[in-house]
Amino acid sequence: MSTVRTEQIGDVLLIEINNPPINAGSLTVRQGLSAAIEQLQTQPELVAGVIIGGGTTFVAGSDLREFGQPLQDPQMPAVIALIEACGKPVVAALHGAALGGGLELALACDARIALNGTLLGLPEVTLGIIPGAGGTQRLPRRVGVARAIQMVCSGERITADKALDLRLVDEVVAGDLQAHAMALARRLAGSKCRIRDEQVPTEDAAAIEQAEQTALRAGKRRPAVLAAIAAVKNAALLPIDEGLAHERAVFQQLRVSTEAYALRHQFFAEREAAKLPAALQAAPRPVQTVAVIGAGTMGAGIAICALDAGLNVILLEQDDVALQRGQQRVAEHYQSRVTAGKMKANVAAASEGRLSPTTDWAQLGRADLVIEAVFEDMAVKQEVFRKIDAHARPGAVLATNTSYLDVDAIAGLTARPQDVLGLHFFSPANVMKLLEVVRGQQTAADVLATGMALGKKLGKLPVLCGNTFGFIGNRIYNAYRKQCEFMLEDGAWPEDVDKALTDFGLAMGPFAVADLSGLDIAWRMRKAQAASRDPRERYVAILDQLCEQGRLGRKTGAGYYRYPDGKQVKATDAIVRAIIEQASGQRGITRRTLDATEIQRRALLAMVNEAALLLAEGVAARPSDIDVVLVQGYGFPRWEGGPVFWARQQDRAQLAQDLQRLAGESGHGFVVADLSVLLNP
Ligand code: NAD
Repeated sequence: MSTVRTEQIGDVLLIEINNPPINAGSLTVRQGLSAAIEQLQTQPELVAGVIIGGGTTFVAGSDLREFGQPLQDPQMPAVIALIEACGKPVVAALHGAALGGGLELALACDARIALNGTLLGLPEVTLGIIPGAGGTQRLPRRVGVARAIQMVCSGERITADKALDLRLVDEVVAGDLQAHAMALARRLAGSKCRIRDEQVPTEDAAAIEQAEQTALRAGKRRPAVLAAIAAVKNAALLPIDEGLAHERAVFQQLRVSTEAYALRHQFFAEREAAKLPAALQAAPRPVQTVAVIGAGTMGAGIAICALDAGLNVILLEQDDVALQRGQQRVAEHYQSRVTAGKMKANVAAASEGRLSPTTDWAQLGRADLVIEAVFEDMAVKQEVFRKIDAHARPGAVLATNTSYLDVDAIAGLTARPQDVLGLHFFSPANVMKLLEVVRGQQTAADVLATGMALGKKLGKLPVLCGNTFGFIGNRIYNAYRKQCEFMLEDGAWPEDVDKALTDFGLAMGPFAVADLSGLDIAWRMRKAQAASRDPRERYVAILDQLCEQGRLGRKTGAGYYRYPDGKQVKATDAIVRAIIEQASGQRGITRRTLDATEIQRRALLAMVNEAALLLAEGVAARPSDIDVVLVQGYGFPRWEGGPVFWARQQDRAQLAQDLQRLAGESGHGFVVADLSVLLNP
């Protein structure tokens, strides 16, 4: 089927792109557009053209699957060259979104008219590439180099109103977009207005420098960010054809880089993760009212994101003092959003208006879904679930936000284990996108579907997990942290490990993370597990000793690191080093230097091994789900694609050899996984 339809309306040619769902600028679209412009050029009775998107959007991006292969002609720059060379004006009529190649196409037209609410942006850098069809050359000719650097490097999407202020669009309209665009095209008949002929506005060099520095910091100096800055600056330095040729060459180079593959992998992995495997698909139960039990750190955050999604929220606490504290958290959040200009006061008030704080359990009867977020203590959770079971209406979905506890043991306390599942949010719950949706042994398919649907409604990335200690994320993180502790005993200092891993790209090193979350959480869990621990297992007691000395992390001013005035001292102090040296001595280890490469490989392999075990156990449904969890929830660098993607880039024989060595270094209890479950896509 043709993806571009033309229709002669009077003396104007309407060119409509129909390539659902996003009207991507795929090969057939480019062919269709080329033919349509040819028609416009050659039919003498036509005076102008209008390019419009059929359905819900203009061109909202490219077909990313094409990017991994040789691109077929005509490519987008050739289509754009035809539009610019055409003797008759072409108007781009925008609605929905004009992103990436879509915005580049629009910028090649003689005018742009947008429906109120349209979003415009160039997100290429977030996919490890740069705009390749003139975006870096035409955008700065309208908005200036500094603003273009900001937009291109961040992938920012701006609204039509903002685009009008920036002269990126010429008109913003409401109502019948096509009619407005046709009228504009007729008014332009006989003229040509190409952005390529315009000069880049003169600007303050300091403003450009500042935009550049901000982009470099935010983009962690990734290759695409550096390349995008250089390309945009070319717009002011080179004739446009040279600037375009340079941009295209860099685009072609970057699109086949490992980084771009990794980012595309993560993009597809996120979409895939949100879908339940075919065997588990069912219609979700309707959810309009959610009850959140516990208004602490997590409960308040969960309540906020449910309110933001337009749901009614019953927030239940054990007493008035705790309830007021929770209510205060929610109120402060909205106040700060309004003060920062990120939310309109009436929108914030409407959200808060849907909150019903209570200490009355009978209120649960109104909820379609209940999320428990009380202390991480089985006895407390059991007591709470008994009450939930007594008050929730039949058919309500019952969820626990536990981080580690057994969802089946919790479900088993109710008379309706089929209605129970885990919904593991990440902190801060109103910010972090990851949501682990935990399937208990008896969880019904429609309950699982409800969990996934709720995640999407809340703007999260829901990932299906089996019920195991720590689910996907915390179980892999524990294996990784354990390996990092082994490396302390083997000869590294915490700062060596943290630096090697932040150099790899992790947002924070494991010991800085431990200090931030508080060592006492892990300490409590270790004590609880002490009786069941196999004495032959390699157990690193450094953390316990730090806790015994009152070093519980940032909140006590010291943990692995010291924090005078709240700021981390980069190197560990003599007390910590003495504890670590003593631990090495007790294990009979002669301390040696571990370089960054060894630290990175050991830490990553520990993750990869645990990931393979999780897959073999069926806890994770797909290898790519693991990458989504680690990137979205644990600061794993997105441009490395996740641990599974990383492993697939390694030499297999070397990986197997390193894993054997890791097993030796890790000692008794380390289970070597069969990596083939995740290496073969
Ligand atoms: P928190 O201590 O901040 O809040 C717990 C709240 O539960 C308190 O306000 C308390 O008053 C309330 N509560 C306790 N018993 C109650 C009862 N019987 N009835 C009603 N309310 C009761 O804890 P948190 O950090 O918000 O953690 C809550 C849950 O979320 C835990 O299971 C935790 O493992 C999990 N979790 C925490 C994080 C995190 O980073 N903090 C992340 C993911 C999951």
